Amino acid sequence: MNQAARKLSLDRVFVQDGTSFGVVRHKRQINLSYLQSVDAMIIQADTEMEAMGVIREIRQLAKADDYLKPLFVHPLLAKNSKLVGETDGVADPDLLVEAAIKAKEIYRQLNKLPAQPGSHQHPDGELLGKLSQFLFTRQQSLEPVPDRFAKLHYRFPFLTHFFEENGEQKSLSVLRLGEKQGWFNKKTIDKLHLCPDCESAHHNLRATCPKCRSVDIKEEDLVHHFPCAHIAPISDFERERQDGLHCPKCDKTLRHIGNDYDKPSAIFNCHDCHHTFQQAEYRSLCIECHAEVPIEKLKETDICQYELTAKGQAAVQNGAQVNPSLLALKPGLSEPGVFEFDVFKVLVRQEMLRQKGQEHPTAMVGQVKIDGLLLQEYSTEMQERLSSEVCNIIKSYLKPADVVSSKGVKMYYFMLSETEQRAAANMKEVLTYNLNKLISCNLHDKHANVQVDMEPLLK
Ligand SMILES: [Zn+2]
Ligand SMILES: [Zn+2]
Ligand SMILES: [Zn+2]
Repeated sequence: MNQAARKLSLDRVFVQDGTSFGVVRHKRQINLSYLQSVDAMIIQADTEMEAMGVIREIRQLAKADDYLKPLFVHPLLAKNSKLVGETDGVADPDLLVEAAIKAKEIYRQLNKLPAQPGSHQHPDGELLGKLSQFLFTRQQSLEPVPDRFAKLHYRFPFLTHFFEENGEQKSLSVLRLGEKQGWFNKKTIDKLHLCPDCESAHHNLRATCPKCRSVDIKEEDLVHHFPCAHIAPISDFERERQDGLHCPKCDKTLRHIGNDYDKPSAIFNCHDCHHTFQQAEYRSLCIECHAEVPIEKLKETDICQYELTAKGQAAVQNGAQVNPSLLALKPGLSEPGVFEFDVFKVLVRQEMLRQKGQEHPTAMVGQVKIDGLLLQEYSTEMQERLSSEVCNIIKSYLKPADVVSSKGVKMYYFMLSETEQRAAANMKEVLTYNLNKLISCNLHDKHANVQVDMEPLLK
């Protein structure tokens, strides 16, 4: 048993077959020297929140040996499937045989990790690296867990500790990166319909009035009285303090459905605007951000389970980096040729060098500036979407090899490697017109104005 552990912690340390287990009850007991003095930790917190806090604290540590530490829960917490699922299982301090075997398996894998792993350049890449190590050391797949507190209705074990509450949707970009990288295989297990504004899966679907969007609508049967051919909502055939139906037109009592009347269809009445209609409009109210959209506008998103491919396993063992060209693609953009601004600058410099060696340099650079946007009226998600939409519009006028980038919502840059002056002037005009149209139609932002400038890369 490690003497340091005894001194540093008031908690006990147990040893089984040479594997030491430290017991931790509170988040504040996590200090590096204690953690590093034992091979595994048993979490024995009073509440789920405290236990999750301990796990989060450890998973967020900087070094692989620390954040990949085998974690178990005390049998007192064994009924909590959320905690068991976030750890390597249950470990009883009085009966540690199985836990010791499990911890040894984890260490066998952990020892295959390179001693000096390179650092990832991008938060998504870094997280993907850590997740892959976690799956590799546990030899398990990543199973999304239904969770009513998660914004996506699902929580991804391990990944969840790197996001703020309600930030689960950001796991999706990490997982997509793993897929693009060829490190993950996926299997779709559910489909979500997410709010287009905030990517929440929490919404209320309801039938609304197609005219005023009110939910205060009522569906009524239509009644067709055969003898007089009168058709009206059933309430017109009802009289106060009288049973049965009476025709308001010919004053007869309706007797047998099918014989003297029938109900050909139903009709909706709006109690707000008194509109009558046959088809209600189904709309979704986002419980998270209160956006209200027709259900067709919801973003269909696959929820998948993931497993490391052979390539992923090899990447973990070699300390391989995420391919930077995949990271350079702006998040949420599938469009090739749209790059982060830092990467764009590198590409421009490379092109400058290439063009200098040419007799007739043809490359041009362009800039799109959107003035007068009232940004305070747009959520971060909307700004991101606007910026990717503008990038995609610009890209649609470029050749496949040309590149686009943006700096925030107001500034965009692009580079054309081969353009004639005349085509460039034409493009400037078309871009200005189309972007102004996009802004004025979609944003109703009357103060916004788009300016496009282009000039040769080499002057
Ligand atoms: Zn009648
Ligand atoms: Zn209405
Ligand atoms: Zn929303």
